[in-house]
Amino acid sequence: ERMISGELQEDDQSMELSLRPINLAQYIGQDKAKGNLRIFIEAAKMRNEPLDHVLLYGPPGLGKTTLASIIANEMGVQFRTTSGPAIERAGDLAAILSSLEAGDVLFIDEIHRLPRAVEEILYPAMEDFCLDIVIGSGSSARSVRLDLPPFTLVGATTRAGLLTAPLRDRFGVLSRLEYYETKDLCAIVERTADIFQVGIEKEAATEIARRSRGTPRIANRLLKRVRDISQVKGEQIISQQTTQTALEMLQVDAAGLDHIDHKLLIGIIDGFNGGPVGLDTISATIGEESQTIEDVYEPFLLQTGFIQRTPRGRQVTAKAYHHFNREVPKA
Ligand code: ADP
Repeated sequence: ERMISGELQEDDQSMELSLRPINLAQYIGQDKAKGNLRIFIEAAKMRNEPLDHVLLYGPPGLGKTTLASIIANEMGVQFRTTSGPAIERAGDLAAILSSLEAGDVLFIDEIHRLPRAVEEILYPAMEDFCLDIVIGSGSSARSVRLDLPPFTLVGATTRAGLLTAPLRDRFGVLSRLEYYETKDLCAIVERTADIFQVGIEKEAATEIARRSRGTPRIANRLLKRVRDISQVKGEQIISQQTTQTALEMLQVDAAGLDHIDHKLLIGIIDGFNGGPVGLDTISATIGEESQTIEDVYEPFLLQTGFIQRTPRGRQVTAKAYHHFNREVPKA
């Protein structure tokens, strides 16, 4: 497992329970999403109605689940959670929906992975708060309509484009979460240190923030490891120096890149003079699946401008050469 993966890892679980902000005021950064939601929540409360359905999208670890639970807290209603892959049959979703109480927030993580037959149950549920159920079979089959309490669906996905159009269209609020700026991640690291009841130098917090790939989950994970090393060294306050050493030990470099990123970038630099080179060729050279490169390794490198996509394949940028203290080849 990579230190710098935004996906939830087993080690994160118990820690994250204690770190989760519980209201909008504690939720750091994401000013745009937060500002919009604050207004929608306020308006829904004034009208005494449930909040419109909300779709949150963005890379893993940016705070979608957290924000969903905050919406429930701010609305003063129950928070129920499930996920796309966990719901196999239409009946499973029907059971969840009919157990909701008026106003509840139902959170469906990875909502793009709902099976098609299950997704279709959601359309009338979202639109008219009802379930269409077929009773019996063959010529005696008939459809009955069951009323549901009004509720708010909060869906989460990595990319809005993964949803079918009919599902996407039924959300009143679409909110994209962005990678966090260093100053916001720094505030998150300081807040977490506070909850851990340990002091941290400002420069140390900034150092962790810078290497966390814009992702709170990664920042908290790195802080936890750095804290362990600092404690073993007997420090009172986590120092900048120890942080630097610890992050080197953890093989997370100054830009938040790890050995896999290095293998990919150096592979293109040394093997293909910087590219462009096709995905399958890279895959064969570094011994990683094309799909994994595309879905897991590449997005951050593209986003931060270490590589770019061209019609003829992947090409590393001058930024990548500079990062490794290499000279940019003359065209
Ligand atoms: P996602 O659902 O997008 O994968 P989570 O909501 O599970 O991400 O967030 C991962 C962890 O990061 C949370 O447990 C929380 O501790 C922390 N976190 C996320 N967003 C914020 C934020 N805006 N402020 C403070 N901590 C955050």
